[in-house]
Amino acid sequence: MTASGMDFDLTVIGGGAVGLATAMRAAERGKSALLLERHPAFGRETSSRNSEVVHGGAYYAPGSLKARLCVRGRRELYAFAEAHGVPCVKAGKIIVAVEESEIAALERILENGRENGVEGLAFLEKGELRGRWPEVAAVGALWSPETGVVNAHRFMDAMRSVAEGAGAVLLPGAEALALETVAGGWRASFRDAEGVQSVDSAFVVNAAGLGAQAVMAMAGLDPDALGLALHPCKGSYWSVQGEARRRIPGLVYPAPEEHLVGLGVHTVVDVSGGVKLGPDAEYVPPAREYDYAVDERRKEAFWRSARRYLPFLEPGDIHPDMAGIRPKLSGSGERERDFHIREETEVGAPGFVNLAGIESPGLTACLAIGSMAVEAAFF
Ligand SMILES: Cc1cc2nc3c(=O)[nH]c(=O)nc-3n(C[C@H](O)[C@H](O)[C@H](O)COP(=O)(O)OP(=O)(O)OC[C@H]3O[C@@H](n4cnc5c(N)ncnc54)[C@H](O)[C@@H]3O)c2cc1C
Repeated sequence: MTASGMDFDLTVIGGGAVGLATAMRAAERGKSALLLERHPAFGRETSSRNSEVVHGGAYYAPGSLKARLCVRGRRELYAFAEAHGVPCVKAGKIIVAVEESEIAALERILENGRENGVEGLAFLEKGELRGRWPEVAAVGALWSPETGVVNAHRFMDAMRSVAEGAGAVLLPGAEALALETVAGGWRASFRDAEGVQSVDSAFVVNAAGLGAQAVMAMAGLDPDALGLALHPCKGSYWSVQGEARRRIPGLVYPAPEEHLVGLGVHTVVDVSGGVKLGPDAEYVPPAREYDYAVDERRKEAFWRSARRYLPFLEPGDIHPDMAGIRPKLSGSGERERDFHIREETEVGAPGFVNLAGIESPGLTACLAIGSMAVEAAFF
């Protein structure tokens, strides 16, 4: 029981990377936190279905939450990984221009990145690129030394254990069903193995990812009216096997095209040396449960986009791997949107800290997002 008579200071709905980071940051600041996760284990949705890339932060519009929280979250993530033995490799990445016409896009990223405070960005001329990355076909590249990869499962395990160590109560297998206002806060009803229960807290943080719009509705908010409708966008991955796998030297991203959703089909070399290509982008209808199967019919288009900069790649080298769903706020052809992170007093839901559209770089940024959510509630 808190000083104000509540069961907890804060209830976090959703136990992906962002919810875990929020509960951990709250507990570290001496706040009592409860986290509800509907699946029997944490991080089963988007937080374990992504590229596991620790982004530098160069892509995002200067001043945006994506830019600021990515740069801050990335620095915090590396320090956290080191302190808690989370497998994480800061190996850097290249963003390649296959044709001269793509150099301008790299220059824009370089400029953005410098404004965002991303360290160490540099152009590699063709000769330099050929010396260091001989298998990659490109006329030039942008080198980002701060980019890396992390084992997302181990990262989330470590956050869970730090959060619990600091006193947070984390409940897997507990689905939030309803929210109602009570004096000084919120009552959250949830179902777990013991049936339907309820808990009172001064604040609620909506960290439900693809379920964020349903949680907003529980708080009496209309996502459509707020411009926060969900536009789920599936991204599939293909694993690279055989000799081709050994020829892929690290993280290689294409120069972003205008109107492209995401950062383009890129290579991912994970912390154990596994190599994947992905993700592509396919808008799908909102659903409670998503189909994560990789559609084999997308193989040709997929292979063609990667072969532009990895000319040795043959269709037989790639095999369906896994998929994730981006919780986007922008629909097909619409302008990219920033993260939405706000305490919603202004729209009639005081004490409801609303997170929506936490797509990439949400894994990189989660520690900073968690701090921001806690600050939005208490400070
Ligand atoms: C294809 C793809 C590639 C990506 N690549 C990268 C990358 O390389 N680097 C990077 O930084 N980011 C990347 N991202 C983004 C990153 O994965 C997400 O931003 C991040 O994982 C979001 O975490 P989350 O905790 O907000 O969401 P989630 O992990 O989806 O967690 C939300 C949780 O809420 C739970 N939930 C929902 N409703 C309820 C309810 N009613 N009650 C209880 N629990 C509920 C869900 O079960 C889920 O576990 C990528 C995303 C995709 C899809």
